[in-house]
Amino acid sequence: MEAWKEQLHNHVNTIDRLKEYIHVTPEEEEAIGEMKTKWGTTPYFASLMDPEDPDCPIRKQVIPSLKERENTFGIPNYLIWKENRDTGEVRPDSIARQYDDRIAFTVTDVCANYCRHCFRKELVVDRDLKLRMDVDEGIDWIREHTEIRDVLITGGDPFILSDEKIEYVIRKLREIPHLEMIRFGTRAPIVLPQRITDGLKKILRPYHRIPIWINTQCNHANELTEETARAVYELLTCGVNVGNQAVLLKGINDDVESFRRLHQKLLTVRIRPYYVFYCEPAPGIDHFRTPVEKGAELIRDAIRGHTTGLAQPMYVIATNIGKIPLMPDYYIVDKNEKEYTLRNYKGKETKWPNMPE
Ligand SMILES: *Cc1c(COP(=O)(O)O)cnc(C)c1O
Ligand code: SF4
Repeated sequence: MEAWKEQLHNHVNTIDRLKEYIHVTPEEEEAIGEMKTKWGTTPYFASLMDPEDPDCPIRKQVIPSLKERENTFGIPNYLIWKENRDTGEVRPDSIARQYDDRIAFTVTDVCANYCRHCFRKELVVDRDLKLRMDVDEGIDWIREHTEIRDVLITGGDPFILSDEKIEYVIRKLREIPHLEMIRFGTRAPIVLPQRITDGLKKILRPYHRIPIWINTQCNHANELTEETARAVYELLTCGVNVGNQAVLLKGINDDVESFRRLHQKLLTVRIRPYYVFYCEPAPGIDHFRTPVEKGAELIRDAIRGHTTGLAQPMYVIATNIGKIPLMPDYYIVDKNEKEYTLRNYKGKETKWPNMPE
């Protein structure tokens, strides 16, 4: 059996299995025992957990918490609203649309790690939302909609699919003349780096006018290992760029030090920061959510100017009408006919000529 399949076969999803990796606290044990929720991770990702620290950023993303039963700020039927599934436009279940030129294409509801903060948890974790994920139906819809240039294949985790299935989806999409790019959203480089096999590379590598882009999700520097570095390197050798879409998570990455370290360390494994998402109001994840302004403050206090612009993600709120950037805006202190007054990250000011139109 290939190593990545073994990882999934030996999924860590029982108390006893979990105890092989960490000292499980009574609270963790109670949450796992009482809550009927899908959870689990790969042995690889489990091995990155701190055995002694219940506040370990990886543990919090993996192990259910009793706090998931609380829901004061979450929106019921969140995904229906967020993905515009209750509007007039008739679409297959697999197609989520917020933009004119691109869509998200859901091809599976299976994941290597069932992230506790997942905004698609109604579909992926709680499983009370059932979608028909008919790949051919989705491809037919994309073929009929000539305004779509960009398909984001998502899930679940699309890299859970077999090589054959991935090859099929890519091949079918590349036959559609109006498509200009194919993207995958996958946590595989982080939670299942073994997935980047020679077989998969063969599928991704052949030169084609339609490039493949990948965005992964890494939320804390502790998730970045030699295995991930190698997986990303292999993807890059196939001409596939790898970006990161982090989620701003309370107690995991919402402090200056963790936030900066995460974005700096991503570059050391060749992953380019792309987005930081505000933690969405899906039900049962209140305990992960910060105030909205927090992300912009962290970009101001941890990243901009403090480290290279390459490490700089865009902070966005992913809403039902698309992603809305919310960036710190503190540069133009003053402007008159003659000049601007600009302020840098250290609070220092300078003058700049105002060019009339
Ligand atoms: C996030 C998302 C996209 C892609 O957005 P980009 O800003 O281009 O990365 C497309 N469709 C849907 C429904 C999305 O949620
Ligand atoms: S991998 Fe993505 S879809 Fe799956 S549980 Fe994590 S955040 Fe949700």
